[in-house]
Amino acid sequence: MWVIVHVCVGLAIGAAVGAPYWLLVLIVLASHVLLDLVPHWDYTVADRQMLWGALDFGASLLTLVLCLVFLKTPWSVLALGPISGAPDFEVLVNTLHGRRRDYWFPSHWRRFPHGRCGPLLGISVQAAIMVASAAVFLAAR
Ligand SMILES: [Zn+2]
Repeated sequence: MWVIVHVCVGLAIGAAVGAPYWLLVLIVLASHVLLDLVPHWDYTVADRQMLWGALDFGASLLTLVLCLVFLKTPWSVLALGPISGAPDFEVLVNTLHGRRRDYWFPSHWRRFPHGRCGPLLGISVQAAIMVASAAVFLAAR
């Protein structure tokens, strides 16, 4: 799933769930695994991976900056966005190097039932998750 989706879900969990920080970190990492089960479309199997990856990274960074500057989101909550998306860093590095290695994060393993579908449904699903996450985030802050 795109990094921006994981970032949005991480921010929503950080804003809405009251728990010790170590537990929030585990929850957002668990959310990464669960989200990777949902049928979605990944640009890692598409043309123009560099363009898609740059847009994904840029949108993630912009979201964090907007939350920090305009919504005054605490750093502790803000950090849960990138933590949630961090496991995809290994995918990004391998994609940029054009290699397909075994990954360390469970939802990236070859035998993991990674959710996949076509671009129309796969992008729509991710957009819906981002909208729901934004609603939870804004309602909880
Ligand atoms: Zn992932």
